Amino acid sequence: MRIACAASTAFALLLGSSPALAQNVKITSLGTHPGELCANDRAMIFEDPTGVRFLYDAGQSVTGGDDPRLGTIHLVLLSHMHGDHVGDLKLKARGEGTCANSARVPAPNSTTAEIVAAKNSVTVTTRAMAGFVHNKVDAIHGSGAKPMDFCPTLDVTVPVVGACSSRIDMGGVFTARAQGAQRGVEFTIVYSAHVNDVAPALLTKPQQDLLKADGAQLGYGPPVGFVVKFTNGLVAYLSSDTAVFGDMKTVIADYHKANLAVINLGPNPGLFQSGAYAINDLLKPASVIFTHVNEAATQGGKLLPNTQTAALMKQVRAPAHLAISERTMEFDGKGKCVSGC
Ligand SMILES: [Zn+2]
Ligand SMILES: [Zn+2]
Repeated sequence: MRIACAASTAFALLLGSSPALAQNVKITSLGTHPGELCANDRAMIFEDPTGVRFLYDAGQSVTGGDDPRLGTIHLVLLSHMHGDHVGDLKLKARGEGTCANSARVPAPNSTTAEIVAAKNSVTVTTRAMAGFVHNKVDAIHGSGAKPMDFCPTLDVTVPVVGACSSRIDMGGVFTARAQGAQRGVEFTIVYSAHVNDVAPALLTKPQQDLLKADGAQLGYGPPVGFVVKFTNGLVAYLSSDTAVFGDMKTVIADYHKANLAVINLGPNPGLFQSGAYAINDLLKPASVIFTHVNEAATQGGKLLPNTQTAALMKQVRAPAHLAISERTMEFDGKGKCVSGC
């Protein structure tokens, strides 16, 4: 595998800017520690061959709206309101703390809203969660600025003029196209079998007190995953946090025909246990990327043998790749990794 990758890299260098090679989708994880897959890693950047570039779940592994690794961000996807996804904390500095427990500081407006405000991005999420982002972005912009709202259409050309959000819920489709591009990148919201309680620190103090008095959590409608159809034919399923569930076969594999599965691991939704069945029998993708591992999965960029991630990797039949921080992987339209894996 490693030899094949090295050979294709050399081939790519020889060909320079061949149009065929430009037809890949680039995927880069922004984790806490460069070159590793760490416990708190969440944020991933996807770049379509037409230039549409989006961030999937800002989380706590970015340093905020000014993280220099972000670059252009046309859209920000938000799967649910747990602090490790919406970003109630942000990374103190790249590589700070340990791979098992990175050093983080509060992000009272959420890293999601910080990035949407800094980059004038489109937020792709449900309407319930969009309402939260609107408020936080308005708080960052300050009074007098035009309030953030839904985008005027469900088919936008990026970059958009001002930050706006998709007006879609479960099953809804939102399209973003680069200027002059014939085809756009299509985002469909799919179910995730999880919960959607907001990180309490992101709420106003009276709301926090009210909830505390009743031992309650505040949910923002259903948590979601995404199916993203890129212009080169790649269909990526972004699972978010989810238990194994039947839609993985019926909706995501049979209907959408996802050929790349980006899977969140971790002990809560149980995918360390059920992941092999979910991937081998339900999703059947051409390739898998593992992220959200909630453990220090690598050291020196190598998978540690005594990890839950390593145990699952052994059971998965499709080629499985780790979302190593700051390493760019490239996928062709058939879901095959052609570089960086
Ligand atoms: Zn969660
Ligand atoms: Zn999570």
